[in-house]
Amino acid sequence: MPKQKSFPNYKMKSGWNALLPARESSPALDRDISVDVLVIGAGWTGISAAKRWHSLSPEAGIALIDASEIGEGNPGRNSGFLLSIALAEDANPDQIEKMSLCNRLTASTMAEILAEIEDSGHAVDIAKAGTYRAAASEAGLKSLQNYRAFLEAAGLEYESLERSALRSRMGSDFYQEGLYSPDCYLAQPAAAIRALASLLPESVQLFENTPALKLKQQADGWQVQTPNGVINAHKLVLANNAFSKELGIARSRLVAMHTYAGLTPVLEQSVLDDLGSDENWGLLPTHRLGSTLRRTIDGRLMVRSMHSYEQEAPKGKIEGELQHRLEKRFPQLPNFDFEHCWGGAVGFTFNGGAVWGKFKPGLYVSAGCNGGGTVKGTLLGKLLAEAAHDLKVPDVPELFGRASWMPPEPIRRLGYNISAALESHKGRREL
Ligand SMILES: Cc1cc2nc3c(=O)[nH]c(=O)nc-3n(C[C@H](O)[C@H](O)[C@H](O)COP(=O)(O)OP(=O)(O)OC[C@H]3O[C@@H](n4cnc5c(N)ncnc54)[C@H](O)[C@@H]3O)c2cc1C
Repeated sequence: MPKQKSFPNYKMKSGWNALLPARESSPALDRDISVDVLVIGAGWTGISAAKRWHSLSPEAGIALIDASEIGEGNPGRNSGFLLSIALAEDANPDQIEKMSLCNRLTASTMAEILAEIEDSGHAVDIAKAGTYRAAASEAGLKSLQNYRAFLEAAGLEYESLERSALRSRMGSDFYQEGLYSPDCYLAQPAAAIRALASLLPESVQLFENTPALKLKQQADGWQVQTPNGVINAHKLVLANNAFSKELGIARSRLVAMHTYAGLTPVLEQSVLDDLGSDENWGLLPTHRLGSTLRRTIDGRLMVRSMHSYEQEAPKGKIEGELQHRLEKRFPQLPNFDFEHCWGGAVGFTFNGGAVWGKFKPGLYVSAGCNGGGTVKGTLLGKLLAEAAHDLKVPDVPELFGRASWMPPEPIRRLGYNISAALESHKGRREL
């Protein structure tokens, strides 16, 4: 198996970022520096950790590095669902007290994200559009039933929808049944992460296009090698999700799972007229390998689906299948080519639990945000900075789970291939 890189280097550009005006990136590191704190990964988690660290220790010299550019990298590649309640796969109606606390924590984090986006003055397309969840098969209906039980137990608002209601709101006959829950914001994710990064305190030095290649523990902290400079830091925060394992952390608990998205051009008004009454909606799958859909406020459709293990798949392999999955749901669409098609890596853990906390002296890690990691990552990044300051924080492993062990390669890949094949077969009508 080829050696994995310590950072992502996607061949397909982020479609969301491509829709935005060009942005001038912060310079890459080109010298050796020493700081009090180094945060690796300027995503939802890392930006939040750096801001919170600064607010708790305003005098600390903080550097934040990212292998990519803000908006172009992984944090701007997701489908833009900012959930203020648990995802269907995490929802457990039998543990409602714990789940309700998680919901409260994510909801207050969501409120902070919104306030920051507003303060940034950036024009970010973000709205509390809510989300559909819909099932096309028996397996999907079962998962929908579980989610409904969770929403009921948590006292959260929702609306049940038959096929005809889904058809008239979204323009698709594909699903047998669904529900609508208002507790979700839909955002242009690249614009949102740009806005959040723009509010980094001036004293936090941001270096883009600066991948961490290697970590070394030293007597008084950590040394991090980048292509054109070494960073010595007393404290190190790893917020680079799946890629923290390539820097030697949680190797037996994390996998970089790539998933893909396609975004159509702006559709003709006559086509939009046949896509139901809702003009800005999102749909999450009821099966973990299923497809996410969005209709954007500017009149495009997006589909997010398909997975590959540890490697970005070639565009040729992805595009046609994504198109097929979108056309299955919307046979009324005229022939189209995606305007943008891209992928990104999710920090997958076998049981969905997080890799979070102090791992070695001076080394703090928050990784393994499977899905829903935009809001959850923001929360866990903030809590990590607080825990590093010995503040009392909620019990993250208890609330969000602790990532479980996975066997080493090549057994892990084999296990993934077998379970993905079985899951895909089971949920084939939801793909
Ligand atoms: C196609 C797709 C759709 C998704 N849809 C959703 C969704 O709708 N809602 C949702 O909540 N979640 C979604 N997710 C998951 C979500 O994107 C992640 O959970 C979230 O981005 C995690 O945030 P993070 O900051 O922890 O990690 P990331 O967003 O992965 O950020 C880590 C950062 O670290 C940087 N980095 C990595 N390695 C290095 C290194 N060695 N040196 C320096 N920098 C490094 C990366 O460039 C990146 O900027 C989706 C993911 C994908 C791929």
